[in-house]
Amino acid sequence: MRESAANYTSVQEIERIHKIQQNYFQTKETYSITYRYKMLLALKKSVLEKENAICEALYADFKKPFFESELTEFLIVVKEINRTIKNLKKWTKPKSVSSGILNFPSSSKIIFEPYGNALIIGPWNYPFQLIMAPLIAAIAAGNTIVLKPSELTPHTSQLVAQIISELFDPKFIAVVQGDVEQSQKLLSLKWDYIFFTGSPKVGQIVYEAASKFLTPVTLELGGKNPCIVDETALLKLTAKRIVWGKFVNAGQTCIAPDYLLVNHQIKSELITYLIEEIENAYGKDVFVSPDYPRIVNQSNFERLQRLILKDHIVYGGTCNLNDLYISPTLLDLSDLNSSTKLEQLPEVMQDEIFGPILPIISYSDHEELDYWVQKFDKPLALYLFSKSKKMIDKISIDYAFGGGAINDVIVQFTNHHLPFGGVGKSGIGSYHGEKSFKTFSHKKSIVHRGTWIDIPTRYAPYQGKIKWIKKLVGWL
Ligand code: NAD
Repeated sequence: MRESAANYTSVQEIERIHKIQQNYFQTKETYSITYRYKMLLALKKSVLEKENAICEALYADFKKPFFESELTEFLIVVKEINRTIKNLKKWTKPKSVSSGILNFPSSSKIIFEPYGNALIIGPWNYPFQLIMAPLIAAIAAGNTIVLKPSELTPHTSQLVAQIISELFDPKFIAVVQGDVEQSQKLLSLKWDYIFFTGSPKVGQIVYEAASKFLTPVTLELGGKNPCIVDETALLKLTAKRIVWGKFVNAGQTCIAPDYLLVNHQIKSELITYLIEEIENAYGKDVFVSPDYPRIVNQSNFERLQRLILKDHIVYGGTCNLNDLYISPTLLDLSDLNSSTKLEQLPEVMQDEIFGPILPIISYSDHEELDYWVQKFDKPLALYLFSKSKKMIDKISIDYAFGGGAINDVIVQFTNHHLPFGGVGKSGIGSYHGEKSFKTFSHKKSIVHRGTWIDIPTRYAPYQGKIKWIKKLVGWL
C-alpha cells in the first residue's frame, strides 16, 4: 500500500480561515485587476518551477505516467493560466448591451462582479488540474478562495497546499486538507460560490448544503458514458481512439467511454481491433508497461475487481492487489437484453465504472440503441463512431448528454470554446475558457437612464395610454 502524506486541517483552523477570508473580501482588494494579474503571474511562475514535482507527486499517488501528467495536468493548467492572463482585461471589462426603445433614453451594461468567498472541492482522478483550473478562474474573477483537494491523492494535495501557502496569504487563498470530516465542516459554512467536482452522490450532499444559504453552485459530476460504434465506422481507427480514451489514467476519467454499444454485425471485428490496439499501446504484459497507471486506492480496486464478470472476459481481467493493478479488461455483454430493468443488470452496468473495464454490448437496430442509452441518467459524455450523417444527426438530437464527440473520445474537453459540464444527474453548470471566468462572476445588470427627457406613458393616470403601449410593443 502507498503511504499517506496527509496533513489534515483542524476544524478550528477551517473556521478561522473562513472568517479572515470574509473580512478580507470586504476590503475589495481583490476587485483590482492589477492585483489579479499579479496573483496569476505568481501562480504561473510557481507552477512552471514545480513541473517535475507535480509529475512526481502524481506518480507517487497512482503511478501516473509522466507523459500523462504533462499532457492531462501540467500543460492544461499552464495553458489555462496563459489564456486567462492574456484575456483578463477583455473578460473583466463591463459589457455594453442594447437598452431597447422602452428604456429610451438610456445605456445598459453588465458588470462582472466577484461573488465573494468561493469554495472549490476537487476529486482525486486529475487531482492537480481539476483543482487548479477552477482556482485560476476564481482568481481572475476576484474572489477569495478555499481549496479542498482530495484526500485520496495525498502527495498531489500536499503539493497544491505547498504551492498555495508559499504564494498567497490565507486571507486570499487557503488550502484545507482532509476527508469527509473537513469537507462537511466546510459545507456547513456560508459561501458565496461552491464549485464541486466529484461523484453525483457527493454532489447531492454539496447541493443540499448549498441550498441552506442559497449559495450558487457548479457541480461537475459523472455518469455512464455510452460510446456507440455503428456499422459504417472505420474500425481500426475507432479501436485505437477508444483504447486511448478508455485506458488513459487507467479508465479513471469522468468522460472516458463507460461502455460500448456496438452494431452486432461488427462486434467481433471491433473486439479483435481493440485487443490489437491495447497491445500496441501497452505491450502484451501491461503490468510492466511504464505507460499504464494504477488504481487510486484499495477500496476502488476492490470495487472494480467485483465488477469483472469472469465468464464474460474477452481480454484482460488480471488484478494485483499489492500493486493496485487492474489490466485493461474487455467484457462481452452481448447476451444482455435491452429490455432488462436497470436494477436487474449486472453491477458493472448499473453505475459509472470509473476504471479500466470496458463492457461491450451489441445492438441490432435504432430502437434497441434508444433503449440502452435512455435506460441511464443523462450522461456527462456520449460518443459516436460513424460515417453516417443520419446517425450523427440522430445522436446529436435524440439523446441528452453533457457533451461529446463524433469519431473520437474525450477531445471535447480540450476545446476551451466549448462549455464543459453535465446535464441532469451528471452536473449543473459548466466551465472552461471565458466560461470559467463567468462562472465565478456575478453578472450585475445596470440600466443608466438619461434625465434630459422623461416620456410619461408609464405613469398614472393610465387612462387612454394602453393603446400607445401596445403600439409601441407591436412596433418593436
Ligand atoms: P467524490 O465525490 O468521492 O469526492 C470528491 C470530493 O468530495 C473529495 O474532495 C472528497 O473529500 C469530498 N467528499 C467525499 N465524500 C464526501 C461527503 N460525504 N461529504 C462531503 N464531501 C465529501 O469523488 P471522487 O471519487 O474524488 O471522484 C470521482 C467522481 O468524480 C466520479 O464520479 C467522476 O465522474 C467525477 N468527476 C467528474 C469530473 C467532471 O469534470 N465532471 C471530473 C473528475 C471526476
